[in-house]
Amino acid sequence: MNYINISNKSRIFKFEDAVICNNHDSGLIMPQYIPEFGNLFLKKLNRKTNLEIATDLMYPYLNDIFDWPSLEKLVSKSINFKIPLVQIEENIFALELFHGPTMAFKDVGARFLSMLLQHLNRGKDKTRIIVATSGDTGSAVANAFANIEGFEVFILYPQNGVSKYQEQQITNSASNIWAIEVEGSFDDCQRMLKSVLQNRLLCKELNITTANSINIGRLLPQIVYYFLAYKQLGNNKKDLVFSVPSGNLGNLTAGIMAMKMGLPVTKFIAAVNQNRTFYKLLKYGIYKPNKSVKTYSNAMDVGNPSNIDRLLYLYQNDVLKMTDDIQCRTVNDEQTINSMQIVYDKHNYLMDPHSAVAYHALKSSLKPHQNGIFLSTASPVKFEDVVIKAIPQMTRNYLSGPIGKKISTKKDYQYLEKILYEMV
Ligand SMILES: *Cc1c(COP(=O)(O)O)cnc(C)c1O
Repeated sequence: MNYINISNKSRIFKFEDAVICNNHDSGLIMPQYIPEFGNLFLKKLNRKTNLEIATDLMYPYLNDIFDWPSLEKLVSKSINFKIPLVQIEENIFALELFHGPTMAFKDVGARFLSMLLQHLNRGKDKTRIIVATSGDTGSAVANAFANIEGFEVFILYPQNGVSKYQEQQITNSASNIWAIEVEGSFDDCQRMLKSVLQNRLLCKELNITTANSINIGRLLPQIVYYFLAYKQLGNNKKDLVFSVPSGNLGNLTAGIMAMKMGLPVTKFIAAVNQNRTFYKLLKYGIYKPNKSVKTYSNAMDVGNPSNIDRLLYLYQNDVLKMTDDIQCRTVNDEQTINSMQIVYDKHNYLMDPHSAVAYHALKSSLKPHQNGIFLSTASPVKFEDVVIKAIPQMTRNYLSGPIGKKISTKKDYQYLEKILYEMV
């Protein structure tokens, strides 16, 4: 498989160059084509292990650098936690993507990317990875690269924009991880990231790449769990609707790619909070980035979603055509909290605020004959303040997980300063 830059389709890249930012022009990378998996593959899903399914799906994208068995090994070391489908109501299911080490779905992409970069970077200079995070990306990337030799990670996160639990996960990881608190919003962090990445000379000199979802290596593995969800549906596979809690739209992009690869999906719901940039695009055909507003689902507080261009590319820039497959629903904080409470009271199921946004959007648009899956992107444990607000009888004791060591203050700040000085 070769890769292209969607803003300059004439240049073709190998996967290695596509995944390492300083090896291609700035702009978003996509595979040159989407491989199709026919009905036979779907019929055989039940007889295959999850590991085999994941390897089959990823192989056409990565056959440039792996043979099937070595790719299987990489998959087994990265997507190595369970992804269960849990029935909540007769036709509503939660796909729990949060059983990885940092309890959010970002573990899937971050761990896969980490293994890929380790494979590609063997014996080369130190690689520096820079990420902007509204919370979970930072935790997942920090965990996936902690103490990995040859890698150094810089995490930009917004002051007051992440939960306490997330902040501990970001700042506690290891001596090769630098957590940088930015006075500003997630959009400010993302802008800083972009300005570093656009300086190709600097990226080349310091060997800088990113682990944000603009990196194609993080996006691809997310295709896998849509198929794993389908497999687990058993007899409920008809007229399937996925509700995806969306911020930067990476998760949704992976879902659309899964559909184009052959997964039978009737509709995708892009469930968004009060950050409505994508909503306005689908409703009025107008794309205008907004300043991000803070909500209870903080990982989705994105005013300028970085994967919009990939989605447009998948629909040949035809927004009307996009609305055949994707419907966007907005959910406010009050509805989020109400859903958390109702689902807990009625079905004894605890959701984090992001999953609740997806649940609410699904519940309010699913037709009786349809089957709906909402992606549950984080564990409620990570958002205990919101959970307690929604469900007062819930106690902190019940929620408190293994929070880990205390925030370390022993980092070598002089060194950090020096690197940052060179970067900005
Ligand atoms: C990142 C994140 C999202 C949004 O995913 P995108 O791919 O950016 O749309 C949703 N929920 C949680 C918990 C997240 O961490």
